[in-house]
Amino acid sequence: MARYRGAVCRLCRREGAKLFLKGDRCFKPSCPIEKRGTQPPGQHGNSMRRGKALAGYGQQLREKQKVKRIYFVLEGQFRNYFERAARIKGITGENLLILLERRLDNTVYRAGFATSRRQARQLVNHGHVEVNGRKVDIPSFQVKPSDIITIKEASRKNSHVEGAWQTAGGRGRPSWLAPADGEMSARVASLPTRADVDRSINEQLIVELYSK
Ligand code: SF4
Repeated sequence: MARYRGAVCRLCRREGAKLFLKGDRCFKPSCPIEKRGTQPPGQHGNSMRRGKALAGYGQQLREKQKVKRIYFVLEGQFRNYFERAARIKGITGENLLILLERRLDNTVYRAGFATSRRQARQLVNHGHVEVNGRKVDIPSFQVKPSDIITIKEASRKNSHVEGAWQTAGGRGRPSWLAPADGEMSARVASLPTRADVDRSINEQLIVELYSK
């Protein structure tokens, strides 16, 4: 499957916001957004007028790109999430964010087993994660209340996992995940809500974009 393989910090600079794609570095002064501000990437970045407010289609497109980049999903997958969200009762934009939040890779990141969603996806892909005691290596797997997410016993000494676990408190854990019995385990206490998702996202813009 096609994947973005460029410098991820460039994506933050393109969106003019911290998307937290690089783990611990995102919380340090060495984060390029902290050092250089939100100047767009590229040799003409300086001359691009970030201050000029985007409007209409441009604004909607940027919001969609931002959310796709936060959750590391491709265009086709994102469209599928939107169509699924539209079929669920309730507010489509909120449903979309909740479906994305329920992805297993996001849950592994939110639980503190990884410092970024990208790292969490690798853990899932490489078979280090169990759901209710069974290996699940599908990053898009949707978790549900009462599911127990665990790092496989043999993988708990992995330096990336140990490091992420030790610093997890600093990144904050959402209320929909609770500690579970056993080492490196988390329980899905409830479905995530809109309040658990990045408040800077304006999901209504995405709904407007796809409703054209
Ligand atoms: Fe974005 Fe993190 Fe890079 Fe900062 S360090 S620009 S938040 S990916």
